[in-house]
Amino acid sequence: MSTTEISTDPNGGPATRDIAVVGAGLVGLAAALAFAEAGLDVVLLGAAMPPPPTDRLDNRIYAISPGSAALIDRLGAWGQLPPARVQPVHGMAVFGDRPGATLQFDALESGVPALAHIVESGVLSAALAARVAAHERIEVRVPSRPVALQVTDREAVLRLEADEPVVARLVVGADGAQSWVRQVAGFDVRTRSYPQTAVVANFLAELPHGGIARQWFRDDGVLALLPLPGGHVSMVWSATPAVAEDLMDLPPEELAIRVAAAAVGALGALTSVTPASSFPLRAMAADRFVMPRLALVGDAAHNVHPLAGQGVNLGFRDVREFASVLEARGGQRDCGVLPLLRRYERARREDVRTMIAVTDGLQRLFSSRLPGAGWLRNAGLRLTAGLPMIRQGLAQHALA
Ligand SMILES: Cc1cc2nc3c(=O)[nH]c(=O)nc-3n(C[C@H](O)[C@H](O)[C@H](O)COP(=O)(O)OP(=O)(O)OC[C@H]3O[C@@H](n4cnc5c(N)ncnc54)[C@H](O)[C@@H]3O)c2cc1C
Repeated sequence: MSTTEISTDPNGGPATRDIAVVGAGLVGLAAALAFAEAGLDVVLLGAAMPPPPTDRLDNRIYAISPGSAALIDRLGAWGQLPPARVQPVHGMAVFGDRPGATLQFDALESGVPALAHIVESGVLSAALAARVAAHERIEVRVPSRPVALQVTDREAVLRLEADEPVVARLVVGADGAQSWVRQVAGFDVRTRSYPQTAVVANFLAELPHGGIARQWFRDDGVLALLPLPGGHVSMVWSATPAVAEDLMDLPPEELAIRVAAAAVGALGALTSVTPASSFPLRAMAADRFVMPRLALVGDAAHNVHPLAGQGVNLGFRDVREFASVLEARGGQRDCGVLPLLRRYERARREDVRTMIAVTDGLQRLFSSRLPGAGWLRNAGLRLTAGLPMIRQGLAQHALA
């Protein structure tokens, strides 16, 4: 740990750090690393550090955009991912619920080697955690649970349940959708609950997936089958709560048959390899992402519907912008002052609004039972498929 940036209280109180990051999920780990690489002293507080990955496939998987992969690479973790656990996505196919309503993207057309990389949550977080543990500017305090937050003109103080308080110029909430930092600081949020639950599970596919991510917009929800290494696929089926309950009640072999049928045989027969789990879905954005000496990143600031697979990528983009604002702060040593934090907020507001609006709009269109909605969504897919500029625009947003 470098001591040059840390001021020690002359009365023997705790040292003042530049930044305290609360939450050691993917976004918190990346934020701690990016801030430390920007020359700041960081303390990372979390429930636990991610354990090393096992041979078993994780149920939670992410489609990591090229922009996010570049960030993770700059942080020294991308090269640490076992190549056998990373699946490049060479193409994407989106199907409507009428014949011929199909939208396809491929990496070649978008001028990139891969549209995204599919990585298991545990594998990615273990690689980031190893870099965090080795970084001389990061102190990791796990397990720790903050119980009170006090903000003064000069600093923020986090009182912990069973440890010394932490004093920092800036507290960054990376503590997920139910963020304690967001709630205790009084950030207002706008929330929209979808009448949908996501069911996730992994399968072995009979036919090769060819590195194609497939998505079906169906009457009863959105089914995605993402390619995984070793001929496996990962399912995210965002369905009405009744259908989701039905799916969760099925024995694994019947679930596999039901999913293979919903995928209209595109991947042949499926064999279940992990038990299904489910999550309720919602869209949420905090009205502000910053307050004096406080900021939110990742799911603590915003949640989007998983149909665009962009949740964690939005969080990584928060980290990228935040770190570059902090790097460019010039003579401003104090990283917790509001004008500086507002630069981060301004840089992120539009991207988050757009992503929520796009996923929300798609979700409404594809779950609408109104007359004409079915025609509109299928015509929309056909129209978009015929307009290379729009198609490419959509792809570019997903690549960021
Ligand atoms: C079904 C489903 C599928 C998804 N698929 C995708 C996908 O394909 N691609 C994608 O990009 N995104 C996807 N997402 C979204 C993605 O999971 C989230 O955007 C991502 O996990 C957010 O990361 P995070 O680090 O901000 O929050 P989290 O992963 O929630 O991490 C928060 C961390 O903070 C810790 N914490 C919480 N409270 C405290 C506290 N008080 N003190 C200390 N620590 C605390 C938690 O233990 C946790 O470690 C999906 C989401 C769902 C529900």
